[in-house]
Amino acid sequence: MPIHITDPASGDTLTANLAGSALVISPRFGESYSFDRAGRLLGLFRDERSYQRTLDHRLLERLSGHNNGPRRRELSPDEADALLQRAFAGLRALAEALPRLGVPPDDHCLLADGLAKVLAFGPERLAADGATFRRLYKPVSILPPDQYLALVLQATEGCTWNRCTFCGLYRDRAFRARSPESFEAHCAAVQAFFGEGISLRRGIFLADANALVLSLERLRTIFAIAQDFFRLPDGPRPVFSFVSAFDVGRKSAGEWAELAALGLRRAYVGLETGDDALLRFLNKPGTVADAVEAVRALRAGGVAVGVIVMAGIGGDRYADAHVAGSVEAIRAMGLGAGDQVYLSNYVSAPGTEYDALAAEAGIRPLSGMEIDAQRQALQAQMRAAAPEAIVAPYHVDGFAL
Ligand code: SF4
Repeated sequence: MPIHITDPASGDTLTANLAGSALVISPRFGESYSFDRAGRLLGLFRDERSYQRTLDHRLLERLSGHNNGPRRRELSPDEADALLQRAFAGLRALAEALPRLGVPPDDHCLLADGLAKVLAFGPERLAADGATFRRLYKPVSILPPDQYLALVLQATEGCTWNRCTFCGLYRDRAFRARSPESFEAHCAAVQAFFGEGISLRRGIFLADANALVLSLERLRTIFAIAQDFFRLPDGPRPVFSFVSAFDVGRKSAGEWAELAALGLRRAYVGLETGDDALLRFLNKPGTVADAVEAVRALRAGGVAVGVIVMAGIGGDRYADAHVAGSVEAIRAMGLGAGDQVYLSNYVSAPGTEYDALAAEAGIRPLSGMEIDAQRQALQAQMRAAAPEAIVAPYHVDGFAL
């Protein structure tokens, strides 16, 4: 039950919810802080602004994102430090004021414990925690939108292909698979890092871009190690991962069923477009037929899918074929309950070739409004083509772990 206390001196109402997997403390109307159960700051709202603290210790102000503008702003180190100092000074003052607020004894204990925990994780420790996170992980470039609270385990690093002309997610690293010993050490370090905060994390996300390309034998070992560390009290912790459609056929439906029994719940496939000519222009490996077959194979093995399609890619030249082909591909996949389609907007990535190649080919990029309109058309037609699946937007430029 949330705690509500009105300070007789100031008239402010303190609200706290300390029973869930996150601690939420609101010292007064219009000011709120959330923490994981280890006491690690996750986000705050004050002065009518909302901020996310990332695990690598950046503070991101959430912006409205209207008119296709940026969805967040990273605070400078000085701004971030000043904001954290103000926030923690207020929380310290609250802890000191607690005895005079007339809080009922049970609630007083809960609040005092909660405040002690979050104050022990103050600005300096948060900065050190962010440095530990950066040592523990290669940058987590992207996650599907339903996986932002996943427990990320980097069984592999990078992408096996890494040559799609629009994608800059893993250009900073070569593909590498961890040895079982290295993965075990990674799991132990992740467990120590999150501590009690692990209760906020739901499934395991096996990163980076194509971990499921590993051999079945290696995946059996990886899944066993991950479940040894992170099994839930009532069974295997569900596992999620990206997979390249081109590589799904390396495993039989029986092998996918074995991975499903080991905890694999959903695999995310970057279709991007259902138009083969556009796929070739993007230098994606494989064909639309490969992607349709891959999704069918995963589903036959009992693994749900998330299919990602990119609105705006291919500009004016491919627009009609892109929409028609993508809707037909989704229809042919035969998606059902538990499956998802995510529609991301094309966002230019620094250091990639797509924009220059498109300009060279005389392709006019779609405006922000045209991309939004295309995404809405895709969404409406895909909902009709796959009525049992979830079809939702995916703001890739809003991702931060
Ligand atoms: S889009 Fe996917 S397959 Fe292509 S380079 Fe990026 S991560 Fe790799």
